[in-house]
Amino acid sequence: MSHSVTTVNPYTLKNIKTYQVQSKEDVMKALDKSDKAFQKWKLVEIEEKTELLYKVAEILEAKKHDFALLMTQEMGKPISESIAEIEKCMSLCDFYAANAESFLSDDIIETEAYESFISYDPLGTILAVMPWNYPFWQVFRFALPNLTAGNTALLKHASNVTGCALAIQDIFIEAGYPKDVFQTLVAPHETIEELIKNDKLKAVTLTGSEKAGKSIAEQCGNLLKKTVLELGGNNACIVLSDADLDKYLDEMVSARFQNTGQSCIAAKRFIVTEGIYDSFIDQFTKKVRALKIGNPEENDTKISILARPDLAETLKQQIDSSVKAGAHVLFGNDVLDAYFAPTILTNVSPEMSVFKEETFGPVAAIIKVKDEDEAYALATNSRFGLGTMVFTENIEAARKKIIDIPDGAFFINSMVKSDPRLPFGGTKASGYGRELSKEGMLEFLNVKTVLINK
Ligand code: NAP
Repeated sequence: MSHSVTTVNPYTLKNIKTYQVQSKEDVMKALDKSDKAFQKWKLVEIEEKTELLYKVAEILEAKKHDFALLMTQEMGKPISESIAEIEKCMSLCDFYAANAESFLSDDIIETEAYESFISYDPLGTILAVMPWNYPFWQVFRFALPNLTAGNTALLKHASNVTGCALAIQDIFIEAGYPKDVFQTLVAPHETIEELIKNDKLKAVTLTGSEKAGKSIAEQCGNLLKKTVLELGGNNACIVLSDADLDKYLDEMVSARFQNTGQSCIAAKRFIVTEGIYDSFIDQFTKKVRALKIGNPEENDTKISILARPDLAETLKQQIDSSVKAGAHVLFGNDVLDAYFAPTILTNVSPEMSVFKEETFGPVAAIIKVKDEDEAYALATNSRFGLGTMVFTENIEAARKKIIDIPDGAFFINSMVKSDPRLPFGGTKASGYGRELSKEGMLEFLNVKTVLINK
């Protein structure tokens, strides 16, 4: 096993920095320290904990451009989106600072007992295994509610964003969190198995691929440890004949192409009814053609490099096999190392890779359907369950479909996106459990019933 990890800028292909990898012993020591820190941290008053959230937000604001640049250099995200990601983390600080106390305070339940209530108690050390695609946001949306609720955290980030992982640890230290309440591990995922087996580790959250999710779920299942899994998706974007394209087309383009298409909740399958198909294709293609491609450090870049060349290779294979099965390349499909041009495929059908699998890059698969019924039937024909979006002027008809959508989210006239105030998570092969909002905060708490008679 390698003893160091070197981060590489996917755009310039230059090495950024080499980091020492921690040994298994060091990782186990970090767990001991985290458990010790928990014993004190859980007793700290909520006001003190929420005060620290404001400090985190101040640091994010003060160093916004440095953090954004680090993210862009490590994984190629266009800089304007990196800045927006840091700002979203700041809004998450504000949200939990304003609401944590009410989310966590005891719930009094009237019974015949003298007193009965629910106490929301922290569990202890939680391990977070995180991906590279939103290097700050994914970590903050786990860490802020959990630390504020009294848990302590160990972060095992994707190795290509090790600089971000360590910068996040520094933010918590600078904000004044007690030592070891949040620790970043620089360790390969093989080291994690030992950690999970230890009784001091109470639960695991993983955002990442289905394969990694299954492995974590299996290990934790055997030990009866709780997990939250945020995995892949192939969200459908239904465009019905009465959709307002003038108003929502930009939103639909962002839904697929933001983060250069490397988003779990992206609109990966556009299911378009025949009444609007020609004008949708015409206008959508014009918008995609106009996306500015280039250096991720330039402010107006909308599409840049993928985070790693192997991601482009996988995407290419998915497209090649779909084209062999009858898909038509309407636009794009140029590949060079980690660069993948924005691509539109038409004539897509359910047996093709680009329909069945998750495409993690700037590829829009378009499916033409007869009517609304066929559109919803195809949208829900998926192993995944992160979200579905529909664009239509008939809100009442769309509202009736809520019960039929088996996903974690159903957005009408909006792209599926995360929001601190709303729960976020999936069903089926997209995982289980929720992040954000009150629901996300309660995932790793002991919802304890207390009953007192006298
Ligand atoms: P990944 O390969 O699964 O890696 C994610 C994290 O899991 C990394 O820290 C990785 O560590 C670790 N990991 C990999 N295999 C593991 C295993 N067998 N056991 C334990 N940990 C393991 O995924 P990725 O390529 O970085 O991220 C893309 C995937 O994440 C996509 O499928 C995307 O849809 C999903 N995602 C989901 C959400 C959501 O909220 N639902 C959000 C963002 C991304 P190493 O780097 O050391 O391998």
